[in-house]
Amino acid sequence: MRLCSVAVADFRNISSITVEPGHHFNLLYGRNGQGKTNILEAIYLLGSPRSFRTSRLPELVKHGKQQAQVQGRVSSSGIENVLRLVVEPVGRKVEIDGKAVHKASELHGKLNAVVFSPDDTGMVRTGPESRRRYLDRAVYMGDIGYLHCWHAYQRILKQRNHLLKSADKTGLDIWTEKLAEAGAEVIERRLRFVAVLDGKLQKYYATISGDSETSRLSYQPDGVVSSEREGIRDELLELFKRHQRSDERYGTTTAGPHRDDLTFILDERHLKAFGSQGQQKSFVLALKMAEMDNLHDTFGEAPLLLLDDMSSELDAQRNHNLMEFLTTRNIQVFITTTERSPVLLATAPHCAVFRIEGGNLTFEGS
Ligand code: ATP
Ligand code: MG
Repeated sequence: MRLCSVAVADFRNISSITVEPGHHFNLLYGRNGQGKTNILEAIYLLGSPRSFRTSRLPELVKHGKQQAQVQGRVSSSGIENVLRLVVEPVGRKVEIDGKAVHKASELHGKLNAVVFSPDDTGMVRTGPESRRRYLDRAVYMGDIGYLHCWHAYQRILKQRNHLLKSADKTGLDIWTEKLAEAGAEVIERRLRFVAVLDGKLQKYYATISGDSETSRLSYQPDGVVSSEREGIRDELLELFKRHQRSDERYGTTTAGPHRDDLTFILDERHLKAFGSQGQQKSFVLALKMAEMDNLHDTFGEAPLLLLDDMSSELDAQRNHNLMEFLTTRNIQVFITTTERSPVLLATAPHCAVFRIEGGNLTFEGS
């Protein structure tokens, strides 16, 4: 996949820019607070229903303006599409080739991008919620059916919780069964995805870190050992029944896939407790590479790779390892740094270089 051109207007601190990115490497450099991450965010939003930074739309619109606009020409499998996004504080509108898009599924796969940003490493250290959010987003990217079952599960969960809070619990059993049914599909799809990613992770961890530690990813849904839909459904039903008393007491569903966690393991120890900061960063980056690889397999084309703030993320050796690897891949990469990185420019052939200042962008050559 290639982003051939992108125009951004009134998006965060950007008034108006038009960029024709290079086909392979693009370096966006500039001092802190100049708009580097904003550009990556605008690109990411073109193909995704949500930003990687915020879920609050008003933040995206430039102060004092009514709407933000992003338009991009994307080439994928020899076909070009023009994607247009208009963000207003109350909602977002998307058009593909001038036609309004009404369902998220219509945009799915039109512009795939994997982001690695400094915030991502935080998910190793925090509670399960951010890892679950990561998992849900990553599964959805490569599996369009996931969105549907995830929404169904959330809807049923809301109904069941509503019933748990009310005095009259008529119909609770029916909602519990429905929840097990929808939850089984969510878990089955997550398990399938994690197995694929886990199979790719080790190679990328070794590539980036140059180390031989074993890296592993584990998703063990609460109360479930089966991997097939029917078995999972039965086990989930058991789980919900076991927790029914406490569910009624707390007025909410206290166990199930909406509480599950994703575990990162390095050399058979929890990365969260024992991994150094560098190991945690390399692990998450390897995870993103594995995700990229999976999207490549699924769509037959590599997604865009958006690497935010690389100067602060990895040491020189790891940066070099990563860059060397990326030069061998047919993939469009956007990298932001605070300096006009010599390491990067030495490794990346024909890198297009852009300087960002106060939301403006200057092409400095390639
Ligand atoms: P760093 O190197 O520190 O990560 P950066 O170049 O990535 O910096 P960005 O996060 O892209 O910086 O941009 C930050 C700038 O955008 C800040 O000056 C911030 O005030 C401004 N900004 C964010 N949202 C808006 C908005 N809605 N309207 C106007 N300016 C905004
Ligand atoms: Mg930034």
